[in-house]
Amino acid sequence: MITVKNLTYTYPGAAAETLHGLNFEIDAGEIFGFLGPSGAGKSTTQNILIGLLKNYGGSIQVMGREVSAWGPDYYEHLGVSFEMPNHYLKLTALENLQHFRSLYSGPTLQPQAVLERVGLKADADKKVGEFSKGMKIRLNVARSIIHNPQVLFLDEPTNGLDPVNARNIKDLVLELRSRGTTVFVTTHDMMVADELCDRVAFITAGNISVIDAPATLKKRYGRRALRVEYMNSAQDIQYQEFPLDGLGGNADFINLLNTAHRLETIHSQETTLDNIFIEVTGEELTV
Ligand code: ADP
Ligand code: MG
Repeated sequence: MITVKNLTYTYPGAAAETLHGLNFEIDAGEIFGFLGPSGAGKSTTQNILIGLLKNYGGSIQVMGREVSAWGPDYYEHLGVSFEMPNHYLKLTALENLQHFRSLYSGPTLQPQAVLERVGLKADADKKVGEFSKGMKIRLNVARSIIHNPQVLFLDEPTNGLDPVNARNIKDLVLELRSRGTTVFVTTHDMMVADELCDRVAFITAGNISVIDAPATLKKRYGRRALRVEYMNSAQDIQYQEFPLDGLGGNADFINLLNTAHRLETIHSQETTLDNIFIEVTGEELTV
């Protein structure tokens, strides 16, 4: 659906290049995550992919056509949620959606239904100027899906959302994928990347270092071990680790299971995306 080759970009007037030659492909119906710390170039990449920033180097094919060759009809197929919400503040949420919906030539969803989906049903008739940041972000997401786009671009879609609304947005994205939508999502939140993405790219300082499925990365970088936490007869919490390989025949392991005063937890030791990110890039994700 999207093929990016040797993408470079320098902001007009800037002394240095921001993107240094990115390569990635996104399949139809895939959720592809761009994971990296603040300033890495995630929003820049999204803004180039959607045709907002021009004069990039390299090539970007989206739906079979170079981005620079697409005309205004490109936006009939794309949904975009920007990092900074940009709504008409004097209009209500419903009026905003009705306005943006009218810009599309194809069929669109019912604004009320979309507002309900992002948890804004009760606020439909409120002026957006009175919305919190989280509400504006949810309205952003509502706007991006109103025309049932083939490809959806979401820039930090759960930033500033409480856990319930973040869950709701993540579920919505998963639901869209199940209906065949291709999703490009940028985030500095490894939980979002881990829960949502079929594959993630690690980006730091305008370079991609790794592209893979979160589960594959966790297996590759994690330890093939099992950690058992248990209480001994003196009521002390202890732990022991065992190699995953040959676990069934590991007499110490079986013995511990049978003799521990009380088992507390048993966890395999695959690592987190956060840890892998630090190991691979040498940078922290948190900003
Ligand atoms: P991210 O979304 O990963 O936080 P950005 O893509 O916003 O990162 O920014 C990447 C780099 O480009 C940063 O160093 C930032 O300062 C720079 N940058 C972003 N927008 C502009 C701009 N309009 N003009 C010049 N430099 C910019
Ligand atoms: Mg950004």
